[in-house]
This record gives sequence, structure tokens and C-alpha cells, in this order.
Amino acid sequence: MKKIEVPFVDLRAQYASIKEDVDEAIANVLARVDFVLGEAVAAFESAFAEYCGAKTAVGVDSGYSALELILRAYGIGPGDEVITVANTFVATVLAITAVGARPILVDVDPDTCNMDVQQLERVISTATRAIIPVHLYGQPAHMDPILEIARYYDLRVIEDACQAHGAFYKGKRAGSLGDAAAFSFYPAKNLGAYGDGGAVVTNDLDLADRIRLLRNVGQRVKYRHEIKGFNHRLDTLQAAVLCVKLPQLDAWNAARRRIAEQYNQLLAGLPVITPLEPDWATSVYHLYVIRTNQRDEMQRYLREWGIATGLHYPTPVHLQPAFADLGYKPGDFPVSERLSSEILSLPMYPELLPEAVEYVVEAIGAFATDVQLSHPAVTTVTGD
Ligand SMILES: *Cc1c(COP(=O)(O)O)cnc(C)c1O
Repeated sequence: MKKIEVPFVDLRAQYASIKEDVDEAIANVLARVDFVLGEAVAAFESAFAEYCGAKTAVGVDSGYSALELILRAYGIGPGDEVITVANTFVATVLAITAVGARPILVDVDPDTCNMDVQQLERVISTATRAIIPVHLYGQPAHMDPILEIARYYDLRVIEDACQAHGAFYKGKRAGSLGDAAAFSFYPAKNLGAYGDGGAVVTNDLDLADRIRLLRNVGQRVKYRHEIKGFNHRLDTLQAAVLCVKLPQLDAWNAARRRIAEQYNQLLAGLPVITPLEPDWATSVYHLYVIRTNQRDEMQRYLREWGIATGLHYPTPVHLQPAFADLGYKPGDFPVSERLSSEILSLPMYPELLPEAVEYVVEAIGAFATDVQLSHPAVTTVTGD
């Protein structure tokens, strides 16, 4: 058997496919020397807002900053509570603690790995101000029931769309579903810059205006500081790269969906759980995550075959040492805890070749035979 190296993501392959345009865009910024809030920032903001089907976008320096600035712009701070999920990247929760608010966590649905809407109402208190559903792995959370609850209790809904550029929920783009949305352009995201970057997307022009002030030391006019702001601007060089990449995003997402479909078909007979895509969602497969009850062994085995995999995420937020002060304990979010020990993210990027996908599945098949792998308990689909 010939060993093939399959990386988890391959940013070089993508750069090779757009090199001329990227190099030219960067050279243009160097020629204009408008490095801070230059032409490309505004150009990217309007293109990205239009892409998302929202009124406006504000470029910031990371997905984390996007979340933090949305919370600040809503005046959310000490004494307030913000609800999100235990199964997410830590930045979602760090943005809440950064503004001094208290994160209230809920568990996720075992089928979609996204917010379990059933648990939402029981954690709402008089201090609750906002809900942050996370569109994890590129698949939108079930937004309609979340929005309905939010409307009833007068709460803001902030989408963490950092993994879901271009995803659809019932025909609408991620980023256009809640009151405001945060995107990350971390290099490995579906739309990635060549460094850090992020954006707030919203239909609320007043909110966007406050975020523009907050990201730029509180000034609209140079040296006139209306409010105490921060420095969280999107870099012009990054915006120029993003302008080149955005027109390719739909094709790249379509390639990811084809790869996911190939994985689904080839893995069908094997004792692993493949991702479920409910009919309300069109996932953009930022990650292709399977579940197995011998995860660590499978990961090691694949590594021997030359296949790189990832864990998203190996420890749920409530069990991270950084959040010990929240007072959660093992057993509080059983689905998130179980997922953290069963999930395995397989190689996934638009340039991944069909032969490589076949090779990955062949390795998983060989592992299943070697260890007589059994199927993890399958749960049933919940929600409508
Ligand atoms: C990547 C990511 C973030 C944060 O993005 P950065 O740009 O790295 O700050 C937040 N939430 C989720 C779910 C993410 O995947």
C-alpha cells in the first residue's frame, strides 16, 4: 500500500490558484500606502455585506473582536448574562467575559452539535441580554425557535458565524439571520485572510455606526473622540486579500459540499457517525466531523497512514481551567462532553482530491476491521 500524505488543510494549494490576483492586490495597497482603513477595507465591507444579504458590514481585526464589539455596542457588560453553548471555540465565551458579562452555557443537540433550543428558556433570567448561537462546523443553528424565544423575552441574537461564511438557513445566508453576526477571517476559515481579520454584519445601521467608532479609537473625524473606543480595525492588506477571495467563496464552498458528499457515501457502511444536515440547513462544511467511540486510537491510526485530523474541540468550554470560576462541573453538559471524546475532524479543504478522500476512508475502513470497531449509539433527529 502506497502511503499518501493528506494534510488537514492546505492553504498553499489555494494561494497557488489565486496567486496573480492576490499579489497584484497586495502590490496595489503598497502603491497606495493606505495601510489603515484604506480603500480595500470599504470595498470589502460593502461586497461582504451584499454577499451575506445584510445592509452593512464593519471590518475588524478578528472574529473575537467582532463578537466583543457587538456586545459592547449593545451596552452589555457587568451584571448582564449572555447565553451560548458549551460546545464552541473558546473565543465565543471570551468575548462575553471580556465585556464583564456572565456567560450562561447550554448544551448542544447531539445530531447537529449546535445549540439545543429546548434548553434555552430554562436558563433565561431577568439579567439575560443576548443569545449567541454558534453555526458550528459551517452549519447554521436552528435559528427560528431561537429568534422566537429572543423576541418573546426581548433579547438580542448575535450569530457566531465564524465558521459559516456562505451557509444558508432556510434559504437565507448566515449573518443575515439575527440582530448582528460575527465573522472570522482567520486563515483556515472558509473565507480566510493572510493573517487575522473579522467582520460584523448587520441590518442595524445604528449598531454598525457605534461599532465603527468603537473599532477606531472612538473617532469619526480624526482626533475628535466621541466615545472611549478601542483599536480593532481590519488591516487594509487583509481586506485586499479578502476582496480577491470573496468572489471564489461560493465555488470553494460547493467543492467542500462535494467532498462532504463523497465522504458521506464512502463512509456509509462503516461504524462511524457522519454529519447530519437537517433540511433547514445548507452547511458549508468548514469542518467535516465524524464520531467514533475509539477516537484517539483512530486518530493515531490515521496519522500512521499519513493523514492529519483535528479535534473541534477536545475539551468543552465549561471544563476549561480558564472558566473554572463559572462554577460548572463535569456532567453539566453531557452531550458536549460526550462529543468531545467522540469527534474527529477529517481533512477538508476545497482543493482536496477525490483520491485523497478515498484514501482517508480506506484507512478508516482498515482501522474498523483491525479493531473490530463498533458503532457509537445513534440518536434520533430532534427539532422540526
Ligand atoms: C474562529 C472562531 C472564532 C474566533 O475567530 P478569531 O478570528 O480567531 O478571533 C469565534 N468563534 C468560532 C466558533 C470560531 O470558529
